[in-house]
Amino acid sequence: MLYDCAIVGGGPAGLNAALVLGRARRSVVLFDNGQPRNGVTHASHGFITRDGIKPGEFRRIAYEEVLSYPSVEHRPSEVSEIRRAEPGFVIRSISGEQVQARRLILAAGMKEALPDIEGLRDFYGKSLFNCPFCDGWELRDQPLVIVADNQHVFHMAKLLYNWSQDIVVCTNGPAPLGAEQRQLLASRGMRIIETPIAKFSGQNGKLERVHFTDGTHIERSGGLVGCAFVPNARFAEALGCETAENGGIVTDEMGRTAAAGVYAAGDTAYVMPSQLIYAAASGSKAAMAVMADYIEEEWKVR
Ligand SMILES: Cc1cc2nc3c(=O)[nH]c(=O)nc-3n(C[C@H](O)[C@H](O)[C@H](O)COP(=O)(O)OP(=O)(O)OC[C@H]3O[C@@H](n4cnc5c(N)ncnc54)[C@H](O)[C@@H]3O)c2cc1C
Repeated sequence: MLYDCAIVGGGPAGLNAALVLGRARRSVVLFDNGQPRNGVTHASHGFITRDGIKPGEFRRIAYEEVLSYPSVEHRPSEVSEIRRAEPGFVIRSISGEQVQARRLILAAGMKEALPDIEGLRDFYGKSLFNCPFCDGWELRDQPLVIVADNQHVFHMAKLLYNWSQDIVVCTNGPAPLGAEQRQLLASRGMRIIETPIAKFSGQNGKLERVHFTDGTHIERSGGLVGCAFVPNARFAEALGCETAENGGIVTDEMGRTAAAGVYAAGDTAYVMPSQLIYAAASGSKAAMAVMADYIEEEWKVR
């Protein structure tokens, strides 16, 4: 079976791409190993008609819609290898299955590289988050902490102040803040703590305390964590795609990469802001680029 398009990753980016291509009557095979980035959280926000939905429910509805189109096939498996073939690509999964597709959409997402601090993962996605537009409303007016050791800390502090005015900034070491930035944060009543963090404690995902290596602690009920991102899958460079310093695959406005026949969408392509709705939109655009390129090819004067 030669598919019109293989999609690697069934988050909102890959699923929306599959939806558009399925509706365009193209044969699609969608691989997904079921580990979406927001799997750690219990509710997703900011997607109109789906505000507050559980991530699992979002995916259930999405798969139901996508798989109602007979030309879309789902493989709940991890892609382990992709190589160029004639025509297109051969995609192999860890289950040993091998398929061939003429075009390829990479939508495997990213993962956070969280600071290595005891207890952090118990609270990440429950009361500590990365994005205030996703979870700031739920944190409003609470005593919050920002944990970040990079240049973003000042931006995060200014942004989060919109949701709560009770914020402590913890830089887990020397703060990357200039004198003017420190002064501005102080003018809004924000304390900066540079002492390294020993651990986080609380119950059932709800943060209660941040403990420092000097034995002190502060009481906080949630906040934001700054982190770097790493790609889930590393097929891009071997296929000839260009990648940016942040690890994202470089694409044009429609999701075309530098490699012929390869498109990228969602977190994989570092589509910002990193939100479900932007990922879904970029998946839709990549699918339309696939279609545009097929039509261009199919309507060449013979
Ligand atoms: C704690 C937290 C809370 C969030 N809250 C919100 C929110 O409230 N609102 C919002 O809009 N956004 C939220 N986000 C962001 C949102 O999760 C991402 O923007 C979105 O999931 C990106 O979609 P994607 O399709 O690019 O990637 P993902 O959703 O991560 O999907 C990628 C898929 O590819 C699969 N995959 C990876 N590698 C392979 C492989 N080799 N083979 C097969 N499959 C593979 C993964 O299992 C996954 O299912 C949150 C993120 C986090 C971490």
